[in-house]
Amino acid sequence: MIIVMEANTDQKHIDEVIKKIKSLGYSPHIIKGIERTIIGAVGDEREKTRLQSLESMSGVESVVPILKPHKLASRQVRTEGSTISVNKNVKVGAKEFIVMAGPCSVESEKQIVETAKAVKASGAKVLRGGAFKPRTSPYSFQGLEEEGLKLLALAREETGLPFVTEVMNPREVDLVAKYTDVIQIGARNVQNFSLLKEIGRLKKPILLKRGMMTTIQEFLMSAEYVMSEGNHQVILCERGIRTFETATRNTLDISCIPVLKNETHLPIIIDPSHATGHWQFINPMSKASAAAGADGLMIEVHIKPEESFSDGAQTLKPSKFDRLMKELRPFVEAAGKAL
Ligand code: PEP
Ligand code: MN
Repeated sequence: MIIVMEANTDQKHIDEVIKKIKSLGYSPHIIKGIERTIIGAVGDEREKTRLQSLESMSGVESVVPILKPHKLASRQVRTEGSTISVNKNVKVGAKEFIVMAGPCSVESEKQIVETAKAVKASGAKVLRGGAFKPRTSPYSFQGLEEEGLKLLALAREETGLPFVTEVMNPREVDLVAKYTDVIQIGARNVQNFSLLKEIGRLKKPILLKRGMMTTIQEFLMSAEYVMSEGNHQVILCERGIRTFETATRNTLDISCIPVLKNETHLPIIIDPSHATGHWQFINPMSKASAAAGADGLMIEVHIKPEESFSDGAQTLKPSKFDRLMKELRPFVEAAGKAL
């Protein structure tokens, strides 16, 4: 249920409603809009009519059911888009189109620091890099683990860029959270519900990647898992889905951008690297994503893609990334954003 408070209601009334929601056994989620506060009450679906009684409380304008299965993620609870702060200066979902870039995996100090400097010079606002890698083969490079997190922190010190890195396992959540600015949940873990609940307890932005076999509705329910634990700072990331087509690694579902913009207030960014699997296709797919209304991109860049430990074929050289950033601007602006 959504409890819509009257415009500019006293905090006292809001507090009373929150207390009442809790006493009925539901979790209140406070969503402050420009004019009015609304409170999402989530919990046992079977007994929700009990919440209807809140309608008689002071300061309450109306109590309405949330019709979608995704409750807190739904546009119904927040008509304006959410803005997720990565740090003081970087906000995903605001006017600025945010590009995150960096290597697939952190490999060495020189590799991550030089790549970070290069992507920053071209206009990237967030550094990416994997320290814990979800690889299809157990014999492939698995990542530098904590050493990789330390190198990312060093690159942040050298460049001022915040970073995003993946956590694969509930046991490593605290370790990764200690270092990173944004926690990434990879495509393969999008329905690892115990991991989603664990990161839902953090007060840190989450970059949630769509699974290769996840519908948009299932993707939103995964976001709901994180939000229902109290962490509303979720950035959605489309990274391609599996189809019958083999010319690209996955099929980039560009149409998910307008669909998600309709369904949810959460920001959405696109990863054309894992979506296409080929560096040649990243430039046009990035432009298409910006034009379709995405809030940003996540792109794999490496100082020497040919020497990359993972995903070299889909990785841009800094010079190609720089060209892309220059060519991207008109597409970003056409969609009403700034780069
Ligand atoms: C990644 O971004 O490092 C990654 C492994 O991507 P995905 O989970 O989308 O495959
Ligand atoms: Mn990769």
